[in-house]
Order: sequence, then structure tokens, then C-alpha cells
Amino acid sequence: MISLKNFINGELVAPLEGNYIDNYNPSTGQVYGKVPDSTDRDLQKAIEAAKSAFPEWSQMSIDKRSRYLMKIADLIEANIGRLAEAESLDNGKPVSLARRVDIPRAAANFRFFAAAIVNDSTESHIMEGQAVNYTRRAPLGIVGCISPWNLPLYLLTWKIAPALATGNCVIAKPSEITPYTAFLLSELIIEAGLPAGVLNILHGRGAVIGQSIVQHEEVKAISFTGGTETGRLIGKLAAEQFKKASLELGGKNPVIVFDDCDFEEAITTSVKSAFTNQGEICLCGSRIFVQNSIFEKFKESFVKQVNDLTVGDPKGDVNLGPLVSDRHLQKVEQFVENGRSEGAEILIGGKRLDQEGYYYLPTVIAGLDEYCEINQEEVFGPVVTLVPFEDEADAIAKANSTKYGLAAVIWTNDLKRAHRVAHQVQAGIIWVNCWMLRDLRTPFGGMKSSGVGREGGNDALRFFTEPQNICIKL
Ligand code: NDP
Repeated sequence: MISLKNFINGELVAPLEGNYIDNYNPSTGQVYGKVPDSTDRDLQKAIEAAKSAFPEWSQMSIDKRSRYLMKIADLIEANIGRLAEAESLDNGKPVSLARRVDIPRAAANFRFFAAAIVNDSTESHIMEGQAVNYTRRAPLGIVGCISPWNLPLYLLTWKIAPALATGNCVIAKPSEITPYTAFLLSELIIEAGLPAGVLNILHGRGAVIGQSIVQHEEVKAISFTGGTETGRLIGKLAAEQFKKASLELGGKNPVIVFDDCDFEEAITTSVKSAFTNQGEICLCGSRIFVQNSIFEKFKESFVKQVNDLTVGDPKGDVNLGPLVSDRHLQKVEQFVENGRSEGAEILIGGKRLDQEGYYYLPTVIAGLDEYCEINQEEVFGPVVTLVPFEDEADAIAKANSTKYGLAAVIWTNDLKRAHRVAHQVQAGIIWVNCWMLRDLRTPFGGMKSSGVGREGGNDALRFFTEPQNICIKL
């Protein structure tokens, strides 16, 4: 039985109340570990540690801070195998996917912001003959970073790295369902020699310790990634104290396939964008709109490729592992059942795998319009719908028909149409003829109920700092 610890003031410590939560292995449904069920007493310790670490960390030379982050990146890379296995054990994703994507990207997050902070600059504005203004960007102090279970280490480090780079001290809370890689990160942070108290990681329940972090008066900003309803609550709580909040929330991303696309590439990539990580990526394309003229051909080829996907033990050579939890499996199952009663035609899948663990088969649905529940709500699992469309205007209307606006994919070889459609689809990230290509310098985030604020590149550096204008009379 693996027993995790909190990371406070540079040390791995048990929760002060001594309570733990069970942690399940999704591939067996068995408990494999215990996670601290932290309380306000643990948070207070972390706040005190962060408070005393802040003066030295925030005034440290940028070069030195950057070197710490580079060292952490090196250590993550040196431990890819161990981290990938831990992530798979927690989350159910194939170990091979975690090795190839999640863990290298976690290292890349630290490396990127270590370089970004060294190359950052501030503005100056000259009032000819009168004064010169320059903008100082000061760290906020203690900030809270709260992340979800689907890309546990990648999303946690995506927040921690810019917060630390800009000179803040951090209280981080990973999801209680997937805490293992954050725990291993604490060990690597100790090895990297990061000064005590600069980063503190508290485990536990979102509604308990997560909410306490959001509400603590010493926490000056919250960077949150998770569900839209949780984000709504966090946004309200943060606003009450005039705290900055960056909210990266749910998605229901459209894939628009025009009949002039590279057909084979559109099929292969759309299978990936639907089912990678069991469809548990906020950027997955779960509503595929296909132009009428190629709808039947697309449907047939798509289902044929989905039929070739393998589902099973994430330690093996498989495309999909189990879903993250029993609760989530039941939620996905319920969406498909509701779809059935709305008249869904299940082209493939639509059921659990008949074995222990939380496995659900990749599922393709047709016969429902864009307004049915499964095309409106975030299922966040291996379920995708195929819906035909007439022309550009119809495709855009269907793509924009949900409350979400995170990402979209457009398949066409008509350059003008690609731009035209991209400018009308309401999404923060639009991929044309590709999916998941990420340049960390670009703004990242969603429109509408998919979030507020942008992370990535300069946006992250700006979020974690407060500008101060200094005006000097000439
Ligand atoms: P949740 O909103 O349930 O949880 C996210 C995090 O918030 C977890 O650490 C959770 O802790 C914590 N939390 C829960 N309640 C509170 C609270 N009241 N106060 C403070 N913290 C709280 O999301 P999921 O973990 O289920 O993640 C899936 C969601 O994340 C999907 O909607 C997905 O689209 C979204 N997501 C968005 C991304 C984006 O970039 N836009 C990227 C990836 C995912 P605990 O788990 O312990 O309850």
C-alpha cells in the first residue's frame, strides 16, 4: 500500500489530523494507496512556510530562479519511466502515452518558463520632455494552483512553473483521484534543492482543502483547471476577495470536416482527437460535423479505424486504458444511455468491457442532432458523435451551438475558407488540418463557459504578476 504525504516547507509530512482517502487503480478497481485528507491546519502550515520563503525567492536573481526550474526539468526527464508508470496507475492512461506526451510535456513546462522569464521585458512609455514611465511587474506573493485528474502532472506543472518563475510562492493541490505524480514531483523538488516553502503541495478533497486554498486571505491568485461548475464557484469565491482567477474549464469541441479535405488524414487524426487518453482531454474533439457529400464514406472509414483500437491493461501495448474512476465510468455510461433514449444509433462500442476495472469501449454515435444532451454536455470520455452538415454557414452554426468554446478543428484544403470559418467559430484554439500541436508561447484558454483568462507564454507571466507604473519627471 503506497502512502502519500503532503509537501510543506521542503519536507514530506503526514496530514496533521491523520486522515487519509483511498486511492484506486482504475485498471483493477482495487485500492492501491492512501492520500492525505488535508485540512485547514495543514494549509496554515503551508501558508506560514510560503510566507517566510517569499522575500528571498521573490528577490532572487532571475538567472538563479531560472536555474532551479531547469534543474527540476532535468530531474523530471531523468525520471520519465517512474513518473509515467505512476500517472498510469492513478489515471488509467496507457503508460506509453504518459511516457510520450504527459511527462515530457511536464518537463517542457519548467524548461519553457525558465527560459521565458529570462527573456521577459517590461514596457516603458516616454512623454517627450516631461516624464518617463516604466512598468514594474511584481510577483503577487502566495498563489494557489489547482489541477484536475486527466493530465495530472502536465497541468499541475503548467501552473506551478510560471508562478515560480515570476517569483511567487505556491500552494498546489492536485486532484485527489490522481495525486501520485505530484507526490513524486515533491521528491524531485527536494532533490533539486528548491528553497523550503517556495512550493508546497497539499493533497485532499477539492471541496475541503481546495476551497480553503481559494478562500485563504493570504492567497493572492488562483490558477484553476477543472470542470465548469467548479470554476463558477471558484470564480465567485475569488471575486468576493478581489483575487485574480484564471479559469480553464470544460469543452465540447467541434471537428468540422469539409468535403475538400485530405480524407485519410482527417479520419486518422479525428480518431486520435476523439479517443486519445480515453477521450479525457479537454481538447478532444467529441462532435464531428461532416459535410453531407462525404458523410456516409466518412462514417464507414471512421468506424473501421475505431474498430482497430485496442482497449486494455494500460501497461500493455494498447490505445485506450480504463476511465479514471468508477464514478466517471457511470457518468459516461449514463450519457450514452440517455442518448439511446433520444434515438442514438450506436455505430460501435456503447458498453463497458466485460472485465474488472473501469473500461469503456470507444463509442461512435450517429442519428442525433446538435441539440441533444450528448452534443451539449461534456461527456469527457471515449464517446463521439457524427453529425452531417450542408454548407459553411450550417457547419459554423452547429459548431457554435453549445455553451462551450475551448477548441475546434477544421479540415479543408481551401485556404480562404479555413480562415473564414476559423474567424467565426467561437473557440480559443482553432486547429486547421491538425490537432494538439502546441506552441507554449501562444495564448491558451477558452471562450464562453470554457473559461476566463489565458494561460501560456506571456499571458501566464502577466497573470502571476502585478503591474506597477512608475512615472519619473524629466
Ligand atoms: P473538477 O472541477 O471536479 O476538479 C478540478 C480540481 O478542482 C480538482 O483538484 C478538484 O479536487 C478541485 N476542486 C473541486 N471542488 C473544488 C472547490 N470547491 N474548491 C476548490 N477546488 C475544488 O474537475 P475534474 O477533476 O473532474 O476534471 C475534469 C474537468 O477539467 C473537465 O471538465 C475538463 O474539461 C476540465 N479540463 C479543462 C482543461 C482546460 O484547459 N480548459 C484541461 C483539462 C481538463 P478533487 O479532485 O480532489 O475534487
